[in-house]
Amino acid sequence: MTSVLPHQKAKALKPGSRRPAKELCSECGLCDTYYVHYVKEACAFIHQQVAELEEQAHGRSRNLDNPDDLYFGVNQKMMAARKTQPIEGAQWTGIVSSIAIEMLTSGKVEGVVCVQNTAEDRFQPMPVIARTPEEILAARVNKPTLSPNLSILEQVEQSGMKRLLVIGVGCQIQALRAVEQKLGLEKLYVLGTPCVDNVTRAGLQKFLETTSKSPDTVVHYEFMQDFQVHFKHQDGSVEKVPFFGLNTKELKDVFAPSCLSCFDYVNSLADLVVGYMGAPFGWQWIVVRNDRGQEMLDMAMSQLETQPVMSKGDRKNAVQQSIPAYEKGVTLPMWAAKLMGVVIEKVGPQGLEYARFSIDSHFTRNYLYVKRHHPEKLEDHVPEYAKRIVSQYRLPE
Ligand code: FAD
Ligand code: SF4
Repeated sequence: MTSVLPHQKAKALKPGSRRPAKELCSECGLCDTYYVHYVKEACAFIHQQVAELEEQAHGRSRNLDNPDDLYFGVNQKMMAARKTQPIEGAQWTGIVSSIAIEMLTSGKVEGVVCVQNTAEDRFQPMPVIARTPEEILAARVNKPTLSPNLSILEQVEQSGMKRLLVIGVGCQIQALRAVEQKLGLEKLYVLGTPCVDNVTRAGLQKFLETTSKSPDTVVHYEFMQDFQVHFKHQDGSVEKVPFFGLNTKELKDVFAPSCLSCFDYVNSLADLVVGYMGAPFGWQWIVVRNDRGQEMLDMAMSQLETQPVMSKGDRKNAVQQSIPAYEKGVTLPMWAAKLMGVVIEKVGPQGLEYARFSIDSHFTRNYLYVKRHHPEKLEDHVPEYAKRIVSQYRLPE
């Protein structure tokens, strides 16, 4: 339970000024507010404290000897789900937007922190506190760029709201949990999505230009379970580019350093997580972490069809082989990349095993990144669960 405690205020940092986490800053927005006062304890890249905050949010930290906890964090329930009537223009079927709308219209919360885009640029994030279903719907679909969602925290306090829903990705939610007690809220609900390989707006442009045939018409994209990037274009057409055909050499420095140092892919501190990677193609993947998460899911349950999670295949060889391939920046010719994608989709990891494949590949890459670029941070910054996951593989020096 949150309590109303007086909090210390400091002057928000100026836009564009260097952040305390320096190049590792993910622009989560905390430093744009007077809550910057708490940055040294709250920032996910300065003070990693997932286990302590899990205890605070869920009543326990993950059990490292339980394989599902180890990979997916504290959970009461997992399932695959999709909306029977998907929301047009949502990232997947719109489960996140639907839950948020139900939470607002039922009066459980007075506002929803979410991120719309600016009028000029469909990929430029614009965090808002939505107070109507229309404002929530206007925030649907991923803004695949670093987004300062917490920059609206001052407005939350000024608005006098007491019951709030925050939608966000892992680094935003870690900082939010760290200052939760200072926000003066009676009830905070946290609806998270997994997140990986995010980019700055400039990095996004480079990614689109390097990878898509028509970068200017992309409305959204996703790294899918069929081992291809799916770009959706303005005219509704879908362009598919196999992962193994990506120009890894060109793209190596595209991802933000924060995301190359992140080990909270599955948004460990949200009450409820809605992604896709643990579910069959076309379905979304839901992780209920605590009772508050279940309460949120219940609000939209009548709009969903569900099925149990499944797991098939063995990821380990594919992950081990991807490590030197990424290091060397190997790019296959397009025909070979397509063929490999087809073969792997048929015999490769599926369901939860695909999620483990993605977690393992990213954690091994990120572990090497931190070891090389910030060796002094390695011990404290990498959580124990990530160390265990990485230790399953042979890593180069
Ligand atoms: P919608 O109803 O379309 O709602 C999307 C919500 O996301 C909106 O409420 C909006 O406020 C919020 N949002 C959009 N952009 C951002 C942002 N930059 N920061 C914070 N919040 C944002 N899932 C996986 O399973 N595996 C992944 O690898 C993965 N990578 C992701 C990377 C990024 C950068 C993001 C933002 C999400 C990622 N997801 C991933 C989550 C997944 O893509 C979908 O967002 C999720 O399944 C919800 O889909 P939906 O149709 O229910 O969402
Ligand atoms: Fe501040 Fe957030 Fe950047 Fe950390 S990640 S320095 S808390 S804006």
